[in-house]
Amino acid sequence: MRVLISADMEGITGVTCPADVEPGNPRWERARRFMMSDVNAAIAGFVGAGATEIVVNEAHADKRNLLLDDLDARAQAIVGAHKRLGMMQGVEEADAAAFVGYHAGAGRQGVLAHTYLASTVLEVRLNGEAASEGRMNAMLAAELGVPVVLVTGDDLTCADAAVWAANAQRVAVKECVDRYTAKCLPPVRTAQMIEEAAARGLAELGVVPKPVGPFRYEVFFDAAQPVAACSAIPCVEETGERSVAFTLPTMLTAIRCFKAVTVLAKASVEKTFG
Ligand SMILES: [Zn+2]
Repeated sequence: MRVLISADMEGITGVTCPADVEPGNPRWERARRFMMSDVNAAIAGFVGAGATEIVVNEAHADKRNLLLDDLDARAQAIVGAHKRLGMMQGVEEADAAAFVGYHAGAGRQGVLAHTYLASTVLEVRLNGEAASEGRMNAMLAAELGVPVVLVTGDDLTCADAAVWAANAQRVAVKECVDRYTAKCLPPVRTAQMIEEAAARGLAELGVVPKPVGPFRYEVFFDAAQPVAACSAIPCVEETGERSVAFTLPTMLTAIRCFKAVTVLAKASVEKTFG
């Protein structure tokens, strides 16, 4: 039984502000230890439930956040940003997936809510529904026949996950007060909750229905200039002054195109001003 843990940072225990997730910041150094607590708890739970191979895929910022010398010896980690499936690298070789440290999508309430970019992307819709990173990653996993068995993050991430991973175990490690404020449980508590949930999730592993394409992404920006940048991709059309859309037959192609859209959108932004 092979498990992929996709590990983001905004939804990690105790993380509440941009400095907590900004590589190089002293607060990030501290938050990395909380990240190891959450990730290692999931590994312990999965091993206890019979997992034989566990891969942790770094899914935050430059994808170099884990403290490898503190990683549970029974797991391996994919470290580095340049990988074909991004946050979901390794899912093709997995029997189950876990999303640890996930967060709410752009434009929604939630601790450090965003979708790929901290700003610029205002909202993303996938086949007409608001799409967080968790939702799109779960749909990719489902297309590949891989069920999501565990989601951790704030309470609003868990509420979101109840829609797109209804059979997954969900652990709220903090309660959202505001985008930059949360009522936090300490790692000693959340580690136990995550370990128990991971074990339950794998024990109750089911079959996930394959989503039917095509898959239409609609991306709304906070300004007009990303539209020209993103519509350089041949399948991406301008749908409004601040929006683009594209339709592709599989989630694999659609999620990779969305990644390209975010890269171009980010490159279209110059320094803040005003
Ligand atoms: Zn992140």
